[in-house]
Amino acid sequence: MDFVHDVIAWKRDGEELDEGRVRAFVEGVVSGAVPSYQASAVLMAMVIRGLSDDETLFLARAMVDSGKTLDLSVLRRPVLDKHSSGGVGDKVTLVLAPLVAACGAVFGKMSGRGLGHTGGTLDKLESIPGFRVQLPQGDFLRQLERIGVAVVSQSERIVPADRLLYGLRDVTGTVECSGLIAASIMAKKIASGTSAVVLDLKVGRGAFAADLQEAREIGRLCRLIGRDYGRPTSCLLTAMEAPLGRTVGNRFEVEEAWQVLGGEGPTDVREVTLALAAELLPLSDAGVDAAEARKRAEATLDDGRAAEHFERWCYVQGGRWRPGDFHRLAGHEVRAAGAGYVAEIDALAVGRAAQLAGAGRRTVDDTVDPAAGVVLERVVGDAVDAREPLATVFSRDPARRRQACDVLESAFIVSAERPAPRPLVLGREP
Ligand code: URA
Repeated sequence: MDFVHDVIAWKRDGEELDEGRVRAFVEGVVSGAVPSYQASAVLMAMVIRGLSDDETLFLARAMVDSGKTLDLSVLRRPVLDKHSSGGVGDKVTLVLAPLVAACGAVFGKMSGRGLGHTGGTLDKLESIPGFRVQLPQGDFLRQLERIGVAVVSQSERIVPADRLLYGLRDVTGTVECSGLIAASIMAKKIASGTSAVVLDLKVGRGAFAADLQEAREIGRLCRLIGRDYGRPTSCLLTAMEAPLGRTVGNRFEVEEAWQVLGGEGPTDVREVTLALAAELLPLSDAGVDAAEARKRAEATLDDGRAAEHFERWCYVQGGRWRPGDFHRLAGHEVRAAGAGYVAEIDALAVGRAAQLAGAGRRTVDDTVDPAAGVVLERVVGDAVDAREPLATVFSRDPARRRQACDVLESAFIVSAERPAPRPLVLGREP
């Protein structure tokens, strides 16, 4: 198509695209009129030249309009959502969703599946026998009305442009562009009817954004798009150098989330959850500021109401939740070569090991094993003696178990000095 040729040349030469050109490009991708080789060239020019604020907005609008949009206003209450830019061991949604509902607000999320080294919330929920993530729209709304929480799989009809563009970006080295990332994240939030959203933008080895500056820029652009649609958007920047919590793998992560819901479990998972709750609850109709929201969330975890709400949520969405009731696969330990303190655990390597063990997908068509994963026996700052276990890999397949152990061995750095504690919450874009 001639116009796409112009768009490629225009963007390649550093010119700014107007709304009409951006819209025609997105519509052409969705209709199939723009072939993937031309779409990939446009994406590459966008990555190299970057997108202006206006171009990012134009792209987000065209993506929202590429499919169906949901109207949740029948609920007459703000519907809150949280999005993580993707981390390793990130089970926060499993805690935050029922916690927000137990605090009196409404949490509704349409989620995607995990790909690569990061896990997806839907896979974690589906590791609970019977849990249904595909709900008709009416059931989604009724569930939000009834118990204030629902997490479901995103309909294929919402933002089809993102599915097509992301598929191309994934295989053409064109994911890393703040404007493309912000438009992709926010288009899905806007189209799924979210009233207000908190973004957990991960920074570090296991994340899309390698440094704080890049994460801040993605946050700024997401907020710009949120403002354009009148959807309050708040961003928290959190560390993703080491995995969150002690487990990576679907059913392991649900078990760990359950501990945090009961006021226990790893402190880092609890801390990120509370920080997000303090951002999110003030955006609801609960009439609380951040300090009050945090206090309320802490009390709701500690007095068992959050755990109770999680049980109700599982029940209503078909899940048969019985803590501890899952088949443990054969495990293999990775042990420390020498004594010292765990100074670093490479989140990316742990994510890859869990994926190799069967907990994640290599391609969209892969199936995941709900019981596979990695359990960290030591976390950053822990002391370890020579030959003591650092982590255990659980997998059905002995060959994959061995491969995962090889990857995991390189993930740990043990040093003579105990490392200084590092902050978990690195900043926020209010
Ligand atoms: N997450 C998304 O939804 N889109 C991106 O482009 C990157 C992360």
